[in-house]
Amino acid sequence: MTQRVAVVTGAARGIGAAIAVRLAADGMAVAVLDLEESACATTVGRITDAGGRALGVGADVSDASAVSAAVERVASELGPPVVLVNNAGVIRDNLLFKMTDDDWETVMAVHLRGAFLMSRACQKFMVEQRWGRIVNISSTSALGNRGQANYATAKAGLQGLAKTLAIELGPFGVTANAVAPGFIETDMTAATAARVGVDFETFKKAAAEQIPVRRVGQPEDIAHTVSFLVSEGAGYVSGQVIYVAGGPRN
Ligand code: NAP
Repeated sequence: MTQRVAVVTGAARGIGAAIAVRLAADGMAVAVLDLEESACATTVGRITDAGGRALGVGADVSDASAVSAAVERVASELGPPVVLVNNAGVIRDNLLFKMTDDDWETVMAVHLRGAFLMSRACQKFMVEQRWGRIVNISSTSALGNRGQANYATAKAGLQGLAKTLAIELGPFGVTANAVAPGFIETDMTAATAARVGVDFETFKKAAAEQIPVRRVGQPEDIAHTVSFLVSEGAGYVSGQVIYVAGGPRN
C-alpha cells in the first residue's frame, strides 16, 4: 500500500505538533502546515529524525488562495492528502460587552473559514482515492465558556461542520469527526494564565483539581485520539464528537 499523506494545520507547536509527530509514527507522510514555513522546522525535524517523511508548509488557513496553493504543493511534493486535521486556532477572549468586531472576525476566520477552506481543498483528493479522514479540533468551550463567545461559537461550528461532512462525504469512504479537548498544557493555556495574571504552575494545579482524572491534559492525549479516528479500523466512526478532557466535559 502506498504511504498515506496527512495535513495537520497549526502544527508548528502545541497540539498540532504532537498530532503531526504521532501520525508520522503511525506511518503517514505529514505536511506540517502553519502560518510561517520557518516555524514548522522543529516539527519537521522531529519527524525526519525519527525516519519519517514530512514537509513544512507556510499558509494562513483563512486565506483561500494560500490554502489552495498549500494543498496543491502537498499533493505534488508528498502525494494526495487523504487525512486532514483542522487544528490551527487562536483565542481572542473577552466578555461580550468588551469583545471587538476584530476579536469576533479573527476567531471565526481561523477556526471556521480555515476548516472550511482546508476541507474543501483536500476533499477532492479523498473523493478521488475513495478514502479519507477529516478531524476538526473543537473544544469543551463549545458547551459554553465565559469570556469566549467567539471561540465557543467557532468550536461548536466545527462540530456541525464535521457532522455535515460525515454525511456528504461518507459515500466516498471519507469519515469526518471532531475531537473536543479540555485543558491541555500548551502555549495557548499558558497565554490564558498570563492574561488573568496567574503563574502557569498555579493555574494548572487549580485546573487539575477540577478535572476528574486530577491532571491537565498533554498534547499527546489529543494526538492519541486523532490517531484512532484516522486509522483504518475507525472507518465506521463518523460524525462524532469525542471529548478528551479527563472527564465528561472539563
Ligand atoms: P497553540 O500552541 O497556540 O498553537 C496553535 C498553532 O496554530 C500555532 O502554531 C499558530 O501559529 C497556528 N495558527 C494560528 N493561526 C493560524 C492560521 N491562520 N493559519 C495557520 N496556522 C495558524 O495552540 P494549541 O493549544 O496547540 O491549540 C491547538 C488547537 O486545539 C486549537 O484549535 C485550539 O483552539 C484547540 N484547543 C486547545 C486547548 C488547550 O487547552 N490548549 C483546548 C481545547 C482546544 P502562530 O504560532 O504563528 O500563531
